[in-house]
Formats: sequence, C-alpha cells, structure tokens
Amino acid sequence: MTVELTAVGGYNEVGRQCTAIKVDDDVFIVDLGLHLDQYIKYTEDEEEDITTTSRRGLRKAGAIPDWTSIKDWKKDVRAIILTHAHLDHIGAVPYLAEIFDCPIYASPFTIALLKQLIEDKNISLENRLVKVTKPVQLTDAVKLELIHMTHSTVDCKMVVLHTPHGAVVVDNDFKIDRHPTLGQPPDFESIKKLSGKVLAHVGECLYAPHQTKTPSESVARKMLEEVLLEENFEGRAVFVSTFSSHIARLSSIMDMGKALGREVVFLGRSMAKYLTAAEEANILSVPRHVQILKYGSQIRKFFKQQKDLSKFLIVCTGHMGEPKAALSKLADGAYPFKFRPGDVVVFSSNVIPMPLIIANREELTRKLRSQQVRIFDGVHVSGHASKEDLRWLMLTLGAKHLIPNHGSPEMTSAYVDIAREAGVKPERIHSLREGDRIVLKP
Ligand SMILES: [Zn+2]
Repeated sequence: MTVELTAVGGYNEVGRQCTAIKVDDDVFIVDLGLHLDQYIKYTEDEEEDITTTSRRGLRKAGAIPDWTSIKDWKKDVRAIILTHAHLDHIGAVPYLAEIFDCPIYASPFTIALLKQLIEDKNISLENRLVKVTKPVQLTDAVKLELIHMTHSTVDCKMVVLHTPHGAVVVDNDFKIDRHPTLGQPPDFESIKKLSGKVLAHVGECLYAPHQTKTPSESVARKMLEEVLLEENFEGRAVFVSTFSSHIARLSSIMDMGKALGREVVFLGRSMAKYLTAAEEANILSVPRHVQILKYGSQIRKFFKQQKDLSKFLIVCTGHMGEPKAALSKLADGAYPFKFRPGDVVVFSSNVIPMPLIIANREELTRKLRSQQVRIFDGVHVSGHASKEDLRWLMLTLGAKHLIPNHGSPEMTSAYVDIAREAGVKPERIHSLREGDRIVLKP
C-alpha cells in the first residue's frame, strides 16, 4: 500500500505542467501543459499538425511533458485531472491525452475551453470529458475534490485526491484574492477542512521570490480605470492588449467600454475561444453590441470599413509580442490600418520572463514607439501567489510532504526558504526534477 509521485513536467522549470500520482495500483495525472517558449519556437519552425510525428517532435523540443517517465504506469492511468484553463496546464491535452485510456476531469469552464482547443485543432479525442461540480469517486479508494481558487483565469481549482493514506493536493495555479471582480473568493472552508489530513502538497513557486502578498484583481481593475476612464483619449484609437484567458479582466474592459461610450471589439481567435467558453460555462455574457472578430478576414473588413476608430475600444492579443498575434500585425501594417501619433496601446499584462517572449515584446514596443503610439505598460496584477499567500497555504494544509513545483531553480529555492522559515522540517521538503519519482510515506 503506497503512494508514489512522478515529476513529469514543470519541476525546476516553468511550463509543461504534469504530475502523476500512483495510489496503490491506480495512477492519476494532474495537468498536461505546454512549455510556451519551446512551443512557440517549435511551431514557428514546423507546420503545426497533430500527428504522431509532431507529438514526438514536440516532446523532443521540450514543448510538452516527457510522458515516457511514466511509461511503466501507462495502463494504470485512471484519470487526467486539469487544474485550470491556462495552456501551460492543459495545452498538451490534444497531443497526449489519447495515450491514456481514461476520462478527463475539470471544472465546467476548463472543459468548455478544452473543447474549443480540440475543435480548433480539428482533432477528435477519445477521452470522455467530465465536468466536475462536486466530489467524484474515481476508484474504490480515491475520491477527487476540486476546491475553488482564484487566479488569472476563471473556474480555477486546487486538486485534492483523497486517498486511504491521506490527501494529495496540487495547488497550482492560485492566488488568495478576497476581492475578485468576477466569481467567488477561494473556498476557505474546504481548504481549512484539509488541515492535518494532507499527505503531500505540490505547491507552486512562480512568485515565491516576491516578498509580499499578491494584490487582488480589484486593484488591477482600479489601475485600468485610472488609465481608460481618467486619461483623455478623445479622438484617438485605443487598444488594450491582455491575456485572452483573463475573463475577469475582459469583463472589466467591457464595463469600461460602456462607461466611455466606446463600442468594444475583441480581435483574434484566442479571444473568441476563451469568451465562447466563458459564455458556455455561464460565467459571463457578452452583450450583443460587443463584436468578436475571430478571423483575419473579419478583422481586415472591420479596419477597411471603420475610418473613425475613436468610437471603439479594441481589445486584442499580442501583448507578448507574438509575431502572428493581432497587435504585432497592426504594428506591421498587415491590416488596412495605420497608427496615428497619439493613438494608445494599453498593456494590461506583464512580460512573462522567458527569453523569446522578452525579445518579441521589445521588438513590438520599438515598432509602436516608432509610430509615436502612447504606451501604458504593466496595467496589471499577477494571478500567482506571492510569499505570504504561499506561506498561509502551506501552514494551513500542514502536509507531511511538501513538493515545490511550477518554478525555475531560483523560484523553487525561494519556496523552500519560505517553508523552512515557517518551520517545515527539511526532510519533509522534496525538490524534484523532471523524471524523478518518490514514495510518499504516510
Ligand atoms: Zn495559470
């Protein structure tokens, strides 16, 4: 009778999240994510095509989890469980899920988004998709509970596997937001109920080096209001670029469009995917007068027809400087549109600290500045828990084993420092690398 854990992806690195947990003879996979930096590099070189070859290519490029570390567990996998709808957690599902003969469990929004992803890639998945709204008995011995958390996308869950040996918890990604602008605060009651019952806690490290508490999304909304509602952009084209997965932010922007009397227009496939999923999961309703222009042809038509852009608030992808995203195309003049001096671009985002993304974003900023665009950068707060939130969760759960995850070596060591400061004994902390496997002794 044992519980084992294999660090498949996202250990000592940021991206391609995947953890496998074996409870006696049954295996449960939590998340199948993409390594975004490697994925962008790979798909720019290769024609994106869902074949066995591309799966192998993606694995070799480090863009998807190296599932071969659990090859010996393959036939015992009973469930794939997804924490939330970010691509570094679910983006490898279309490539890897069919290897395992089991259903996929997630919150309603995450399932709705996954369907959009699969549809978009024009593939069919054999795995049954299960929307989880209450605890599910996965096997005779193991029950799945998804606890509501706050993060930079909606319907985000902390995964709890209740086993006869204690609970195994995977917390990422989350922040403790007591004042979210959309949806509920974290389910504190359910979290506290786990106290003292946790065998292992896999904890996110991304913001562990930040010696603070991450501000609420309501702070980001206020920052955005100060720019959009209090600056004078009369007669100017105004673009806001943000994460298409950040439904709360998109909702705030729609409210601000209304307050300004500007018609909101969303550009790009990714925006369309996430907004459609949010509507399907009854999280948000997009008013009829809001336009969602999914395809390049629709975007071109819009810019051709609309000569006075000061009536609009345009929301687009591309804040990471991705060359194929709407904002880079606008900066390159790929659409029938030219920035005029004094037009505005608001980056309601941060720059993800990955070399390719940093370089792309610098290039985009250079192009915008050369066209005398006014830039408002960093109108954003993070969705990741900083030191004080991490400390609170690890102390509340009081796990027997603490396993840092979702961070570079520097972030992981900051997380270990927090644990040590909080009095967690060193022998209970396990820093793993991809492919490592440990037995979690009760
Ligand atoms: Zn996330």
